[in-house]
This record gives sequence, structure tokens and C-alpha cells, in this order.
Amino acid sequence: MRWTKTLIPTLREDPQEAEIDSHKLLLRAGLIRKLAGGLYTFLPLGLRVLHKVERIVREEMDRAGALEILMPALHPREIWERSGRYSIMGDVMFRLADRQKKDFVLGPTHEEIVTELAAGELRSYRLVPRTFYQIQAKFRDEIRPRFGLMRAKEFIMKDAYSFDVDSQAADASYDAMYQAYVRIFKRCGIRTKVVEADTGAMGGKWSHEFMVLADSGEDGLVECTSCSYAANLERAERQPPEPAVWETGDDLPEPVATPGQRTIEEVAAFLKCKPAQLIKTMIYRLDGKPAAILVPGDREINEHKLPQALNVREAVLADEATIASVTGAPVGFAGPIGLTIPVYADLGLKGIRGGVTGANRADTHTRHVSLDRDAAITAYADLCVVKGGDRCPRCGADLAEQRGIEVGHVFKLGTKYTEAFNASFLDENGHQQTLIMGCYGIGVTRTLQSIIEQSRDANGIIWPTAVAPYPVIVLPMNVQHEPTMAVVNRLVGELETRGIEVLVDDRDERPGVKFKDSDLVGFPIRVVVGERGLAKQQVEIKRRRDTQAVMSPLDEALTTIVNMIQHDTQQE
Ligand SMILES: [Zn+2]
Repeated sequence: MRWTKTLIPTLREDPQEAEIDSHKLLLRAGLIRKLAGGLYTFLPLGLRVLHKVERIVREEMDRAGALEILMPALHPREIWERSGRYSIMGDVMFRLADRQKKDFVLGPTHEEIVTELAAGELRSYRLVPRTFYQIQAKFRDEIRPRFGLMRAKEFIMKDAYSFDVDSQAADASYDAMYQAYVRIFKRCGIRTKVVEADTGAMGGKWSHEFMVLADSGEDGLVECTSCSYAANLERAERQPPEPAVWETGDDLPEPVATPGQRTIEEVAAFLKCKPAQLIKTMIYRLDGKPAAILVPGDREINEHKLPQALNVREAVLADEATIASVTGAPVGFAGPIGLTIPVYADLGLKGIRGGVTGANRADTHTRHVSLDRDAAITAYADLCVVKGGDRCPRCGADLAEQRGIEVGHVFKLGTKYTEAFNASFLDENGHQQTLIMGCYGIGVTRTLQSIIEQSRDANGIIWPTAVAPYPVIVLPMNVQHEPTMAVVNRLVGELETRGIEVLVDDRDERPGVKFKDSDLVGFPIRVVVGERGLAKQQVEIKRRRDTQAVMSPLDEALTTIVNMIQHDTQQE
């Protein structure tokens, strides 16, 4: 392909709309263009990369025995009603009606649709196990689409769904997908970290996320500095710390005036104590019933963990009226002493001496609190957001905090959907049994951008060979010089005969412009053909990720390039 025959609209300046480097580079390298917030057009080079990522995904799904299908993106409302998710998905789901005023949604995911299929088709144990997958556009009405392809309203996803006869077989299907994911991300040239994750609106029992570590990542995660434990912050646990003993515990609780001091920071400053000494008391509704949740003053409550830890379906913060009626005080002065509702305390508060809490009275706190002695604690549980420096739940070593981008997610769903859709099969003995399900997603467009986020430098993108728009760019220094172009054309012909895709920068531009653009777009191998080199029968070959170029004899250039590509593809 010739540069002058395609469309590669590179930009010199960082676009205003882009916040993170990979988004800037997608735009600057001429890979995508924005239509509207969260909606992007893939230009020729961007689409080439997208197709390569998709091909890797497809090959590994096929290798793992999954069957490709294609389901509609437009779904009738009723099918989402059957799982109960028509309401659970809330505003994230695009909803529309047809001309007969029948309600439809644009699919944000496909559990309902594929389970309906399985209920109709997988009726005998002879047809199970089956794993289906598709690569398709998904739609989510993000509150704040941002970071380019990272959080878009329309994006491309590979979603897969497994159906098995029993839990053990389902584990094998899960493992096959897990291993396929490991291979996919490796072949795409990105390093991922697998972490334990929350199941969220998907439901189910267990899940793992594949994270690309990046400071710009929207997800927080912790990993153990000693063992292999790693988890999304939404799910991460910790071993209880040593009891927080601030005082001997001999003093009895004592009210102290704190006029207008509501926040942890205000109260701590006013009483000259540490934020950690405060016992943060928040009133929640657990399945509708009020309860108090206590965590140390310097910690945050982890709302994702509350349902499982407290064995409820839903935990939401109570409104001001509820707080006032339960505590008898305005917001900011709640405390556990004397409450008649259930009180759940984080493990970090067990054994605290000399704590400070709200007094359930306006402008008043209580000090010298020993929680076990002074309050009726319903139960202690792991309720707060874990952070770096906490103790690993497995081995007790320090946890370290990182940021990551979720590119893949595998879930063990169990029977949540198959029960709702009566997806059952006849077993060998003629008994009706419910199918066991798993689901597995890869954000394909997000993976593409994550590759850039992880593989770039100050000059631009550094594509891994397997997903580069073209693995080789040939750069004639002077397109008017006929002997130069003759060498270029011959080399390109030879490379293409070997199945290697080449872009020729045939623009009549200064070399500086071409070098800059070549680095910006990030072609893995750059071949420069210039008059000075040709005088010595040489061309210059340089890897994008190397600093040094090598001069290669003309008749060895082909072999050198082919070897580099083979070597690099295996390395990545
Ligand atoms: Zn550990």
C-alpha cells in the first residue's frame, strides 16, 4: 500500500478532547475519528489493527472449541424482563420502540439472548457441552463516555457463553476460556494481570478479570507482594489488622461538644486526634431495613462487598430522613452507642480502645469508646475498601495497590439465567436437568487501545508486530529519484510475495516529516532507502522499539526483515 493512496491523517498537536496518552495517539496517528461523545469511526489503519486483534481472538476461541455465532444487537424488551434485568440494568441500557410501539433495547450484553437459544436447542446431554461466541457491537449509555475507546457508547466485544451438564464440567469450560484469554492477550503483545473480581450486575458466583496495568486505568486493584493473590478493589479482602489501641480503655465514654464538626477531618482536627481513631458510622438500608455500618475513620466502606458480607441482596445508603429517625440526630453525628438497629463493624475496629464516635445528638461526639464494651455489635465483617499496605488475606504479607484497565472478564454464572429461561436438557437417564452456564467477555476495541497505552514512547505508538497496521514501512528519502524507487518497488514486491504487509511512504515530503510520522504511527520495522546508502548498495533498517538502526547490504535486506518479523512475533 502507498501512503498517498490511503488515508492517514496524522496530527502534530495533541487533540483537546483527549485526556490519556493512548487516546491522543489514536487520534494523532490517524487511526480513529470522533463522530460524537463515545462514538468513533475507524479509519483504514485503525481498522487494520482492529481486524488483527479480532483475528487473534477468533483463532484462540476456535482453538478452545468455542463455536462462532452472530446474535441480533436489537432485542425485544420481554426477553430482558424474563431475567429481571430490564429494570436492573437501569439507564445504561439504550431503549427504543418500533413503529408498532413495541419496546426494544440495544444489547449491552447477550446472556438472555444466548440462554433463550440454548433453551431451545441444547435439549439433550449429547449436545452439551457447547460454548458459543460472537464478535459484535455492544451499546451502553455511559454517563460519561471518555478516554476514547476505553469507555464508549458503542464498542466491539467478543462475548462467549458456555453451557454444561454439571458444575465440574462447567469448571473445565471456564478453564478453557481462561487459558484462551491468556493466549489472546499474549499474542496481542500486552501484559495482563489476572485478578479476582466482583460479579456485579452479571450475577453468578465467581469471576476473574484480565487487567492491563496502567496508571490511567479506571480500576483499582491490589496484588500481594509475596504470594499470587490479586484482586479488584471492589472485591479485595484483607486480614484484620492489629487492634487499634489509642488509649488504655480505662476511661468511660464521655460526650464532647463538637459544634458544626461533621466530617471525619473536621472532628479529628477539632479534637486533635487521628482520623483513624474515629469510628465512621453510616446508616444503610439492607434489603430496605436500616442498619449501621462502622469502619475506621480513615477507611471507606466497600459497598460492593456489603451484600455478600452481610448476606443481603441490596445495600444502599439511607436518606437523611431515615438517618434522623434512626439516630435522632442530624447527618454527621451518628454513632453506634445506644442504637436499636443492627450494627455491623469492620474487622479493623475489633478491639479498638479510645475511639471517637458521633453521639447521636447534634454537635456532639463521644470519646473514650471501646466498641466491644460500649456498643451492641451485631457482627464484625470485612467491610472496607482495601488499600496498599493492608495484609494479604492469603499469606499476611503487604498488599500493593495498582491501577488497571479491564480488557477481559470471565464469569462462572451457575444457573441464574438457565433457570430463568428453563434451559434444561435430558440427561442419560432421561431426567430433566438445568444447564450450568459461564460467560466470558473481551472488550476488543478497548484491548486495541490498551495495547497503545502499554506500548508507546514520547514519539508515538510502538505496535507489537502481530497487531501492527503494517509490520513494515518503507521510506524512500527522495521519491523523485528513479533508482531509489526501483529498489523500493523491488523490495516491496519481494516482501509482499512472502506475505508481509508493507506500507510505502511515497509522499514527496521532507525526510523529517516522514520519520516523525513513521514513529508516531509506530510501524515495527522501518526501512529507509536513500541515495547515500544506495551508493554503497545498502539500506537502513530500524526497529521502532530500538534506538539504533542497522545498515544492511541490499541483497540481504529481505532476509534481515523476514528474520526480524519472525523473531519479534515469537518474542511477543
Ligand atoms: Zn499473599
